[in-house]
Amino acid sequence: MTETAAAQATQEAASLELTDGFHLLIDALKLNDINTIYNVPGIPITDLGRYAQAQGMRVLSFRHEQHAGYAAAAAGFLTKKPGVCMTVSAPGFLNGLTALAHATTNCWPMILISGSSEREVVDLQRGDYEEMDQLAIARPHAKAAYRILHAKDIGLGVARAVRAALAGRPGGVYLDVPGALLGQVMDAVEGEKSLIKVVDPNPASVPGADAVARAVDVLSAARKPLIIIGKGAAYAQCDDKMRELVETLGFPYLPMSMAKGLLPDTHELCASAARSLVLKESDCVLLIGARLNWLLSHGEGRGWGEKGGKSFVQIDIEATEMDSNQPIAAPLIGDVESCATALLDAIGGNWKKPDESWTGAVRAKVVGNVEKMAPRLQNNNSPMDYHSALGVVKQAIADHPDTILVNEGANALDQARSIVDIHKPRKRLDVGTWGIMGIGMGSAVAAAVETGNQVLAVEGDSAFGFCGMEVETICRYKLPVCVVIMNNNGIYRGDNENWSGGEDPATTSFVPDSRYDMMMQAFGGVGAHVTNADELRQAIAEAFASRKPTLINAVIDPAAGKESGNIGNLNPQSVVAQARYPQAGK
Ligand code: ADP
Ligand code: MG
Repeated sequence: MTETAAAQATQEAASLELTDGFHLLIDALKLNDINTIYNVPGIPITDLGRYAQAQGMRVLSFRHEQHAGYAAAAAGFLTKKPGVCMTVSAPGFLNGLTALAHATTNCWPMILISGSSEREVVDLQRGDYEEMDQLAIARPHAKAAYRILHAKDIGLGVARAVRAALAGRPGGVYLDVPGALLGQVMDAVEGEKSLIKVVDPNPASVPGADAVARAVDVLSAARKPLIIIGKGAAYAQCDDKMRELVETLGFPYLPMSMAKGLLPDTHELCASAARSLVLKESDCVLLIGARLNWLLSHGEGRGWGEKGGKSFVQIDIEATEMDSNQPIAAPLIGDVESCATALLDAIGGNWKKPDESWTGAVRAKVVGNVEKMAPRLQNNNSPMDYHSALGVVKQAIADHPDTILVNEGANALDQARSIVDIHKPRKRLDVGTWGIMGIGMGSAVAAAVETGNQVLAVEGDSAFGFCGMEVETICRYKLPVCVVIMNNNGIYRGDNENWSGGEDPATTSFVPDSRYDMMMQAFGGVGAHVTNADELRQAIAEAFASRKPTLINAVIDPAAGKESGNIGNLNPQSVVAQARYPQAGK
């Protein structure tokens, strides 16, 4: 074709009002209220990100797909809409897949859109650029996985992805987008007609009257009842209804870590500080959007009291969750809001709250334990221990309850979870069901972008290492994120030794006295190096006042941590190893 002929063809194409795969994909997402993409550019989706930005979407580019993915997963939890992550083919896709699996495991809605190489070449294994059968690899790690081959099917593909991510138990969805699809053109009017806006993507799921009556029977027979609230209830966004249910029943409750703040942790029915007592002594447990998985020791042993000594009532959207660990006497299958409403309607005005001998004993234990801990949260020693540093964080969150606390690490996680009260719903993001290290910076970006609120990320130095480069992303988008690194020079502790006596550091040690604060300074953010509680308090106050990207390197005693935090019991043990290494566990 001559140059003039080519120019003519382009002009004709424009005058025919054509659209293409790029624009149909963007239009389909926007039509379904998806306006943010967490992205890492590259072949074949570089221009897709540019065009999405040009079309008014917020496109945030990360340095590594895993963190873009964690951001999308956290966005799904916070907004009850699918968080979208976009990656390049094979390696980028695999990097994003960890986050997709994390979203699925946590029951959060997310869509991973990955560009892929040419089907004709990949399927004959001719060795294409970044060749991989991504759809097949994604399927076992996602709630659903789809591939779109034709521009006219983009509307359908996006609608399938949105509904699959949100309906019933939410989860991660993979959407495979071969590069060739993006360049396909079709008539713009036909293209627009092919798009689908998903109607009622979060349908209510109402429990049957017999199931509600059964649950009321079991709950009213309880003498020492307990509620366990999980992150499914936080996700459900029916905060007033949840509070009404808890207060009407009058049961003590334990919030799982990301359900903290659904009712304020300072609520008089909150039993967090009496966890051992209520797990052991309760005779009936109402689970609301919480699974009896490893995080609750499967509902037996480890502090749960005598086996068979409790009856369980469980509210969950997923029927197959019932009896997965303990027999459920009264399953209530439905969404949290519908189930809570049905329970409240069924008990009406005549509910007899549990006896004061139970609630009073729980309350007394809570008050006693809180008082016992208080002095440890107030010392100004240098270096700090976890309690003195987290005492400062606790007060900062109490003074600024809209702050979103992001939290990961071993000791940094376990201690902050029990020390730092959360006062409002969905203000705590952490490592979730898998206990992943490295969710911190992605979650912090999503929290800032989706809510506009100040974010405080309390990170173990090890956990931060999995995602530290994303401080550049935080600086680039000028996000109100303050990162506090609990720097004890290592994993679990910073004072371990190499048991061979050789020169290499111990497997769990890092460069001592690292200055993580300088990483933030390198990208134009604020860095602070603090060694006691007063300095930490001051640095957090400045970060909150300025809303500038800030990283505070908080020097923690290398001997302060515990092996594996509170889950050391999960480490395998062997009598042979114990005989060979008497130092183990010391
Ligand atoms: P946690 O770790 O906080 O205990 P889990 O992730 O184990 O919480 O459990 C969350 C549960 O909530 C899952 O079983 C999921 O099916 C359920 N869930 C999610 N969304 C809803 C909802 N809207 N209504 C009812 N249950 C829900
Ligand atoms: Mg550490």
